[in-house]
Amino acid sequence: MRLHVVAFGCQMSVADSGELAAPLLARGFRAADGPDDADAVILNTCTVRQHAEDRALSLIGRLKPWKERDPGRVLIVSGCAAERLGGWIRERFPHVDLVVGAKSIEDYPRLVEEALAAKFDALSESRGSFAQAEAAAGLPIGWTSAAVAPVTIMRGCNYSCSYCIVPSVRGRESYRPYETVLAEARAKAAAGAREILLLGQTVNSWRAADADGRERRFPELLKAVAAIDGVARVRFESPHPHFVDDALIAALADVPGARDHVHMPLQSGSDRVLGLMRRSYGAAGFMDKISRLREAFPSIEVSTDIIVGFPTETEDDFARTLELVERLRPSWTYAFKYSPREGTESAREADDVPAEVKEDRLARLNAVCDRFAEGALAARIGRAVEVLDEGGAYGRTRDGFRVKWKGPSETGSLRTIRARGVSKRTLLGECE
Ligand code: SAM
Ligand code: SF4
Repeated sequence: MRLHVVAFGCQMSVADSGELAAPLLARGFRAADGPDDADAVILNTCTVRQHAEDRALSLIGRLKPWKERDPGRVLIVSGCAAERLGGWIRERFPHVDLVVGAKSIEDYPRLVEEALAAKFDALSESRGSFAQAEAAAGLPIGWTSAAVAPVTIMRGCNYSCSYCIVPSVRGRESYRPYETVLAEARAKAAAGAREILLLGQTVNSWRAADADGRERRFPELLKAVAAIDGVARVRFESPHPHFVDDALIAALADVPGARDHVHMPLQSGSDRVLGLMRRSYGAAGFMDKISRLREAFPSIEVSTDIIVGFPTETEDDFARTLELVERLRPSWTYAFKYSPREGTESAREADDVPAEVKEDRLARLNAVCDRFAEGALAARIGRAVEVLDEGGAYGRTRDGFRVKWKGPSETGSLRTIRARGVSKRTLLGECE
């Protein structure tokens, strides 16, 4: 039996796809390259922006003929859009066997078994199951690469950013226990991961009592993960500025990867818009956290997320965003046009920035961000950089830049590459 998983959206969605696959892998499924050679497909959906949701719904529709060709096949739809639109998806797409929203991920293994045990039995009878003992070949589902594994440390979000649907589809914050996180990171390191990516919506707000009842906070967790045998780098995404404090900065000093790059979403450079977004910081407060990071680690690279065209955003607000980007100098930026999400606070306001103005601001913002991204890459040409080999003579530097090189490659090794050029936002180099 073969399984194919498609994850839309953020890295948490990709990481969740590993958990969603687990009960099927335990049943004897093995990874397929695509739907055509799969007996089961899991679509892990995203609803953060309308465009992401539309792509997921379109793929569900396109899998109808796939299912009709062989009604024994299984289609599972999970994740954030499944949470928001569960009932509607069941009605509109009767070829879907199971819809499981993001809030039910803890119950998911039981829900899958209850709903689909009979179908799985029939499938293994007709297709034959892989031996339980056989290791799954290839990249573990949900891993970024054979050397980079995600570990989700918290779910949900306690913030209420006015544009954001995450708190309503993922619920309030819950933290995975200290020992559970370390056990998962150890198991992934033993399976070949050299870089661990700690994930959460406000990942540095993590805190939990350990088995002895002592409260542990994110900086301690970060150091404990970095100390695991075989772990060469630890990264985390996305930190919230509020929890960037002395304790975190002190912990970063000891952690390769974490002190070299930070992805901290800014959203806007205008205090007026940040207030309407309910981001809980202003432009000066955000830059103060960045300055503290840069003081402690002068070569740290910063990347960010920005939304353009939030309701009532004026040309003056947008100019402040451009100004702040000039000071932030991000090494890369994910820039989005505002997308109203039903049920959020800001969706009650008119989406009053015209589409062509959003488009124009996005293009102008991207032009500024491209200049910094290209500058950061150009500055590395001629330099020797440490790369974690992810296989196929491809890997990433400690500060997150992609690198391809000519020469030997061994997944999981750290190697020194001399950068000689750039192509498609990737450094090209030679092994030293
Ligand atoms: N938790 C992270 C934080 O606090 O910044 C971000 C999580 S969100 C899933 C990822 C990014 O999507 C956000 O940083 C934001 O830039 C973007 N985003 C979220 N809601 C959006 C919306 N309604 N329209 C456009 N972009 C949105
Ligand atoms: Fe959404 Fe804000 Fe929570 Fe990030 S912090 S997930 S943007 S509500």
